[in-house]
Amino acid sequence: MQNPYQNAMKQLDKVAKVKNFNDSFIARLRQPDRDIRISIPVQMDDKSLKIFEGYRVEYNNALGPYKGGIRYHHDTEINEVKALAFWMTLKCAVANIPMGGGKGGITVEPRNLSKGELERLSREWVRSLSDILGPRKDVPAPDVNTTPEIMTWMTDEYAKITGDKTRATFTGKPIEKGGSEGRGPATGLGGFYVFNALRKDLKLPEKCKVAIQGFGNVGSNAAEIFAEHGHKIIAVSDSKSAIFNKDGLDLKKVQAHKKSTGALKDFPDAKNITNEELLELPCDLLVPAAFENVITEQNARKIKVKAILELANGPVTPEADEILFKKGIPVIPDVLANSGGVTVSYFEWEQNLKNEHWTEKEVFKKLKPMMEDASKKIFEESKKSRTSLRMGAFILALERIQKKML
Ligand code: NAD
Repeated sequence: MQNPYQNAMKQLDKVAKVKNFNDSFIARLRQPDRDIRISIPVQMDDKSLKIFEGYRVEYNNALGPYKGGIRYHHDTEINEVKALAFWMTLKCAVANIPMGGGKGGITVEPRNLSKGELERLSREWVRSLSDILGPRKDVPAPDVNTTPEIMTWMTDEYAKITGDKTRATFTGKPIEKGGSEGRGPATGLGGFYVFNALRKDLKLPEKCKVAIQGFGNVGSNAAEIFAEHGHKIIAVSDSKSAIFNKDGLDLKKVQAHKKSTGALKDFPDAKNITNEELLELPCDLLVPAAFENVITEQNARKIKVKAILELANGPVTPEADEILFKKGIPVIPDVLANSGGVTVSYFEWEQNLKNEHWTEKEVFKKLKPMMEDASKKIFEESKKSRTSLRMGAFILALERIQKKML
């Protein structure tokens, strides 16, 4: 398994070669402001005590309070959280929102816990970290395997400890608990706005054939939004398998099949393929929307698409990036492609602090021009600097952060 933090630092080294940045600024960005590891004791249902390992990385707050999700996963460890916190720093700068970068997590397989155990674990994470969290300090959100319900427990625990009534310390809450309209589809929708803003520049057809890896919150929302706009979703996958139909999948039926069987596998109108095969399908657009490090130097040469839209964080390794760039396959980078999520999280924070509630229409109306503006600026920068879209995004973000820090 590649170390995602080393990958993130390779990306930082690369951008420092493409564009002239202040050396001290780059040196500062090689380390987070702080990374915190905590032991979380949880009383299990059988009354035994289990200790979990948890994290919060506060990477950089030059532009505003640290912002970033909390991941619950058995593979989560400090280097992954550090990398994700670094990318959050850039993502907030790309989206041009007044937020810095952070990330959190717990090494846990949440499916193995009862609801009560999960709640006690989540509340205890907040108890251990309540001193450093807060609407003006550090604002966590959901990530892989963390849900609006978990955010409700966390918001409640934080209010109990500190008396905070704003509900602005956590975003991604259910709407009736102070969440924003539109947060569910925000990441997939933001990705679609970015794709649309760049489609002609990247010489992609008006109607694309799309393969999507991952069918969770981000992947399934993206699939629906692309399909609604006339694109053909030819393959989707989850952790167990992938399904493929060259004529396009009926997503409503796919959802129903997943709901009734618990998996995508054996969907009647499609062929079962592997996740590896999905990545290598010939089509117009490949959308990794599951995990990091799925396109590597081992499979990058076999990728046959016209463009890649990174809705997951860090799905393409730096080595694979080089190969794809040489092959002329543009990669729309995570820090741009999935920044719709954090942008609507920022809207939620703003609504909580102002005690407002915006309609979904208002939310999307604010989101769209922000995604389009970032896409255009990044495309222009990558053209000007004769580099990839990722490096274009890094340059835009680092220039904004550097200006503030220096
Ligand atoms: P999720 O838990 O809802 O979904 C993850 C999906 O990936 C599931 O369908 C799961 O079955 C699938 N999966 C797991 N392992 C896989 C594997 N090895 N191969 C193929 N599929 C696999 O998570 P999510 O919120 O949709 O997040 C997905 C990615 O998007 C993550 O990288 C996350 O950091 C990133 N992201 C999420 C948001 C957001 O708003 N949720 C915002 C920005 C970025």
